Amino acid sequence: MNTPNPTVSVNFIQNIINEDLKNGKNDSRVHTRFPPEPNGYLHIGHAKSICLNFGLAAEYNGKCNLRFDDTNPSKEEVEYVEAIKEDVRWLGFDWEDRLFYASDYFDQLYEFAEHLIKTGLAYVCDLSPQEMRTYRGTLTEPGKDSPYRNRPVAENLDLFRRMRAGEFSDGSRVLRAKIDMASPNLNLRDPVLYRILRATHHRTGDQWCLYPMYDYAHPVSDALENITHSVCTLEFEDHRPLYDWVLANLPLMSRPRQIEFARLNLSHTVMSKRKLRTLVEGGYVQGWDDPRMPTISGLRRRGYTPEAIRDFCERIGVAKNNSIVDISLLEHCVREDLNRRAPRVMAVLRPLRVVLENYPAGQVEELVAENNPENPGMGTRALPFSRELYIEQDDFREDPPKKYFRLAPGREVRLKHAYIIRCEQVIKDPETGEVTELRCTYDPATRSGDPAGDRKVKGTLHWVSAAHAAPAQVRLYAHLFRAENPADEPEGADFTAGLNPESLVVLPACRVEPGLAGAAPGSRYQFLRQGYFGVDPVDSSPAELVFNQIVPLRDSWAKAQKK
Ligand code: ATP
Ligand code: MG
Repeated sequence: MNTPNPTVSVNFIQNIINEDLKNGKNDSRVHTRFPPEPNGYLHIGHAKSICLNFGLAAEYNGKCNLRFDDTNPSKEEVEYVEAIKEDVRWLGFDWEDRLFYASDYFDQLYEFAEHLIKTGLAYVCDLSPQEMRTYRGTLTEPGKDSPYRNRPVAENLDLFRRMRAGEFSDGSRVLRAKIDMASPNLNLRDPVLYRILRATHHRTGDQWCLYPMYDYAHPVSDALENITHSVCTLEFEDHRPLYDWVLANLPLMSRPRQIEFARLNLSHTVMSKRKLRTLVEGGYVQGWDDPRMPTISGLRRRGYTPEAIRDFCERIGVAKNNSIVDISLLEHCVREDLNRRAPRVMAVLRPLRVVLENYPAGQVEELVAENNPENPGMGTRALPFSRELYIEQDDFREDPPKKYFRLAPGREVRLKHAYIIRCEQVIKDPETGEVTELRCTYDPATRSGDPAGDRKVKGTLHWVSAAHAAPAQVRLYAHLFRAENPADEPEGADFTAGLNPESLVVLPACRVEPGLAGAAPGSRYQFLRQGYFGVDPVDSSPAELVFNQIVPLRDSWAKAQKK
């Protein structure tokens, strides 16, 4: 069973796993994990890691754990834990009974630290953080040994136990690995393993005033869970020697292998949790699930599907070098998914009243409309047609430019699923000159679908019946940041200056066809000629329908591929 699907191109991680399996490593098991730190909501970059880790497990008939890396109590919150679980599940992955926390291992991590002390591989250091920095050296100069480096084992053990007992103040002492202050790799210059920190932990409360560092807790957690391949992002490449050092010097049965891949960067957005938190806390967006955010919860609320996100993660693949993926590829994946699935309906975003002078007042006709021509199985629906309609303001021009095939004085257009109409007269507001209504006539011999009614005209418009349509608010979205790579801002610069002031446009007075009046939160539609829209799961109600624009119809990614 342990052979990957041959039709899928093999990435470098699969090559490594295949090699390990061939050599009979890990009893031919594949066991991965997704290890989020619960200090923010997951974003589309995490989705790449989730798809990769759970995907590898599925492909090799293995397992993937969900493990919260909760070693930093001051930044972590229960809210994030719950949100992360919901997001992973929504993406379509199942950790079964393998939900873990690094904090599950605090006792064992402490015991292992004592083991390192007893074997002369760790010591308690009293240098101040400032002094530690000075002693550490630089990339070009070796570091200097700490004056506490050669403390006897018994003294280290005594001090470490007293650190645990709460005898010393925060930051006054640390436990360090004794490796090599002259190593060209700064991570090996006696890195800190434990620090004193009085902070309430979301799971262990005030039980500990001593917390392990990530670089120490991570390899131990991996080994305790019998992880075989510990997949992480490239910035940990320089930490791998430390990862291996920890494993090599502890009495652990399992030897996971760390493999690094390039993190996902997406154009026109930021992905660092610190920056995303700034946007939320500074009120630049309405929350972690604001539909403009690159978070999983934001994309979900916007109307993206898990299928589209998984397809995107598959298409971008995994590589060893950092790059920026164009956000239009993600949008393309959403369109591809919704094209066959979303019912096609009519919604008028900026309504202009049309009165059909030759249509009997009070008469209502039920027209038959196809739900999705790409997918005939989706059937048809009845659409009311009457004397007063709305069309899009943009679909009328008093002075039409060349190649404008929509409505203009004296011109004819077809109304989708209905009749051909002709514009006879333009009514304007006498004060502002604004066009307020069009007086038109319809040609009763041109009903769509009637064998004799199929006269051709150049333009076809969407519309709704004024008396029947449901009012709705529609929210249009554009890129959150103007620049293609807002992360390029110089360090320290205020990245919020690059926010796109037009990322949200609210259209309060739209009209949608009557069938949408009871649309369930989260349901998705194609609004003909405009794009894909979803019912906002938070703000929409039967009393006030709210739609989010998921993506416009125009596919800039597909267009760029054709060039
Ligand atoms: P951030 O830099 O956004 O704060 P992080 O790396 O600190 O993210 P973690 O919660 O530690 O966030 O990430 C959990 C896992 O997701 C890690 O294995 C990390 O390597 C991976 N990951 C984070 N960001 C990305 C990304 N942009 N692309 C791919 N994987 C990512
Ligand atoms: Mg991290």
